[in-house]
Amino acid sequence: MNQETLRERVAAVLPEVTRVRHDLHAHPELSGDEKRTARLVSEHLGRLGIEHDTNVGGTHGVVATIRGRARDGATFALRGDMDALPIEEESDAPYRSTVPGVMHACGHDGHTANLLGAAMVLHAMRDDLAGNVRLLFQPAEEVVRGAEALVEAGAVDGVGAILMLHGWPDLAVGKIGVRNGPAMASSDSFRLEIRGRGGHAAYPHDTVDPVLVGAQVVTALQSVVAREVSPLSPAVLSVSTFHAGTAHNVIAGEAELSGTWRTLDPALRERMPGVVERVIAGVCAALRAEYTFDYHWGTPVVVNDAAVSDLVREVGRDLLGPENVVELADATMGAEDFAYYLQKAPGAMFRLGTGCPHRLHTPGYDFGDAPLAHGIALMVETARRYLLANSAAEPAHYEMV
Ligand SMILES: [Zn+2]
Ligand SMILES: [Zn+2]
Repeated sequence: MNQETLRERVAAVLPEVTRVRHDLHAHPELSGDEKRTARLVSEHLGRLGIEHDTNVGGTHGVVATIRGRARDGATFALRGDMDALPIEEESDAPYRSTVPGVMHACGHDGHTANLLGAAMVLHAMRDDLAGNVRLLFQPAEEVVRGAEALVEAGAVDGVGAILMLHGWPDLAVGKIGVRNGPAMASSDSFRLEIRGRGGHAAYPHDTVDPVLVGAQVVTALQSVVAREVSPLSPAVLSVSTFHAGTAHNVIAGEAELSGTWRTLDPALRERMPGVVERVIAGVCAALRAEYTFDYHWGTPVVVNDAAVSDLVREVGRDLLGPENVVELADATMGAEDFAYYLQKAPGAMFRLGTGCPHRLHTPGYDFGDAPLAHGIALMVETARRYLLANSAAEPAHYEMV
């Protein structure tokens, strides 16, 4: 398909996709509560005659399949997340949130509308598709539960590769950011209960003070990243909560702490619960306290597959121009539950420029309308080329130059 045809096909769906985005933006739904959003997606897919399942994995997930008719072949998956955040929107846009205290501050209205637009274009060109495209409309990304539920429900079974985009305010509209290898960190959490012996604050020698023990634990844990992790390997160990005590003249009986552990190195991630508990056990033993340590495995590291990223680069260069394909120098220590899909199939996430002057997760953020045409075209063309290259009886041949 030449660029002209692709652009025309995207232009044809753009008015409806834009209306959908405005509708979603005005009616944001929190993670796990995406009923209306899922219904809207399902209605659009239904009108087009695209086969799909709703309530996938007991969530509001919608999973659709477009079956190419050119050849049997591989399956390429595209993912868009649907949930909003508990933030009060500050905007004058006519489509601003109508739900008090809830808004699309991460731009998932754009991601959902974009994926729906890609579905419309791919469906229109299904006679020329050499394989299948699976569309994952995912709920509950912000609480990192949706992807795992969809994976467990088999939504990516048989998928050869998977792609997602995230709107990115630091990039201008018309630019994308790509990166090979680790792109976003794993995110695990832990909870620690320290049990001492409470008593009168005037007689500390009759107590075992869990506040002092906890303070030493927090300090000792700072040595883990400083002295047990290579300086060349990004890692974060943060103790984020510390609760104890009820009065200034009472030494508490127990303290409760929690924190997060993040890294870009899957092997280091596996090693860390043992290291953290060794430090806690040592400090507690030295200071006569007892403890309970609960470690919660969260999202894995997002590791972008080089081949899928290269395909995005190639499509980006052809559609946007080489100067608009930006190599991202750094990963981030933020997390993304897209990582669960990547444990099942190779894939990549790329950043799509929104040029919004406001940061993600702030009251002024807006995905905007202008990125949609680029996002849809990039997803459609990446899927098409992947299928051509992975389903072809003869060597893949791209007409686009
Ligand atoms: Zn977010
Ligand atoms: Zn997001």
